[in-house]
Amino acid sequence: MTIIAPSILSADFTRLGEEIAACEAAGADWIHIDVMDGHFVPNLTMGPFIVEACRRATRLPLDVHLMVERPENLFEAFARAGATRLTVHVETCPDLAGTLQAIAALGCKPGVTLNPATPAAALLPAIPLTDLVLVMTVQPGYAGQTFMADLLPKVGQVKRMLEAAGSSAWLEVDGGISAANIRQVQEAGANAFVSAQAIFKHPQGIAAGIQALRAALL
Ligand code: ZN
Repeated sequence: MTIIAPSILSADFTRLGEEIAACEAAGADWIHIDVMDGHFVPNLTMGPFIVEACRRATRLPLDVHLMVERPENLFEAFARAGATRLTVHVETCPDLAGTLQAIAALGCKPGVTLNPATPAAALLPAIPLTDLVLVMTVQPGYAGQTFMADLLPKVGQVKRMLEAAGSSAWLEVDGGISAANIRQVQEAGANAFVSAQAIFKHPQGIAAGIQALRAALL
């Protein structure tokens, strides 16, 4: 199974419910929510209020990516708002295993991610405990950045780490994914794909954006 997860970072927030409904109708699998705190990354985006609004707009799983310092302070609020998945950055988690266990204890599926410059080995303590590994293919912070193809070997490296550990965790990628590069990312080992601009800013609309991504996959 291959997951398409539209990131609402590029949605029209005056029409958020309609745009999420359009994603669902077009066959999106998860809705990806990029939470940025203005500290861990310079941009400031959305919090539990928006997750709660998304929860009322769709039945799809809500894939919440926490680009925030001290993420553990927010787990309960996001879980209560209806988050399905909570993904943390290894750079923000001195006790990564404990953090992932805290997410699972709230009934959410734990995920872990890392910045482009952080080596894949930083994920090792998380692998037995995580349901998802997210490889960033841009520097986190803004939508509309160019996909960094030099991170493809890292996707392959994470895939081999998951296989070696017998893990069935999702291998997700986030950052500049488009119909032009999604196939090579899939071939590198990913099976879940976040995309913001290629879906919400597609000239023919959201459904065409999702269809173009699917058509480019194996
Ligand atoms: Zn994200």
